[in-house]
Amino acid sequence: MSVHQRTKSLHARGNALSDTFFQLKVLNGKEISDARFPAFSDAIRQAGFADGRLKPAAIEILQVNVGKLCNQSCAHCHVDAGPDRREENMAKENFDRCLDILARYDIPTVDITGGAPELNPHFRWFVEECRKLGKHVMNRCNLTVILSNPKYRDLPQFFAENRVEIVSSLPHYSALRTDSQRGEGVFEDSVKALQLLNGVGYGKENTGLKINLVYNPTGAFLPGGQAGLEAEFKRQLKRKYDVDFNHLYAITNMPISRFLEYLLESGNYESYMQTLIDAFNPGAVAGVMCRNTISVSWDGYLYDCDFNQMLDLKVNVPGRAHLSDFDFETLSNRDITLNQHCYGCTAGAGSSCGGQVA
Ligand code: SF4
Ligand code: SF4
Repeated sequence: MSVHQRTKSLHARGNALSDTFFQLKVLNGKEISDARFPAFSDAIRQAGFADGRLKPAAIEILQVNVGKLCNQSCAHCHVDAGPDRREENMAKENFDRCLDILARYDIPTVDITGGAPELNPHFRWFVEECRKLGKHVMNRCNLTVILSNPKYRDLPQFFAENRVEIVSSLPHYSALRTDSQRGEGVFEDSVKALQLLNGVGYGKENTGLKINLVYNPTGAFLPGGQAGLEAEFKRQLKRKYDVDFNHLYAITNMPISRFLEYLLESGNYESYMQTLIDAFNPGAVAGVMCRNTISVSWDGYLYDCDFNQMLDLKVNVPGRAHLSDFDFETLSNRDITLNQHCYGCTAGAGSSCGGQVA
């Protein structure tokens, strides 16, 4: 079954939210909603972080967003990715710059994301070069890309040969709930892709080949407990489809991009922000992903995380916010750029690319 597109990008629709500055105005009560919420920096000051500033712990992950092109167009996508985003794709020059940085510095993990990263023509070469450097490679694969074209059918073998850790979104073990967020046909193709990945050893004992699934809520609510969700996903996927996976990461939907559009259109924006704020967990602050990650955009700019990237909030190191000016020491001592969307990372048990943090 082929995947039906759930929507078009904000960019293609000419939606005002495709302007990142406009999104920041909304989040700060200056457009659409006049609701003003306590500043996130004040919340972390009260949590014991001096002057409301957050510093990196160590740079352990280079997260490379290779482009916005995707074979899906999910309703809640924080990247505003989709088949219509053909322009924004990382060129070889910026991949080369990433490899140069990875060769020079002790950054053990490369986390490849998109869009659908596999659609970038340099994807396989980049994975192989990272492996030659001895890096641990993670790839955020949307699963359906494997079935989207015969030329991608061998991706499971390619991933296995290169010991790539796979992280894949599957909002629910019910087809209805997954398809409502990601597009009709996505669940069916996701299950087939998971079976192919299982077939080469992913999610199986003693192979060392890891596939982790990502659950995110299908509406304006916080995720439930990760351990309970993982157990239920494992039980349901095994029973119905004979699918195995390693871990489930429960992540919170960030109030940006297409999820922000959904919140505003459904009248849930203010109550969702208040839910995030009421659930602020001081214990989650230390584990947020910006403390061990540098995020790179398709055009080579540097960000504290993929969310800041999508709001065009570059790293706070004037004159050194591009791969071509990468300075490990300066980046290690920067102040992380914070804004109101950061409440999404610290609500409840916290949320990062690797799931709950507290
Ligand atoms: S698969 Fe991922 S990148 Fe593609 S539209 Fe969906 S959420 Fe966005
Ligand atoms: S949104 Fe980014 S910068 Fe803000 S707390 Fe989360 S990871 Fe850090």
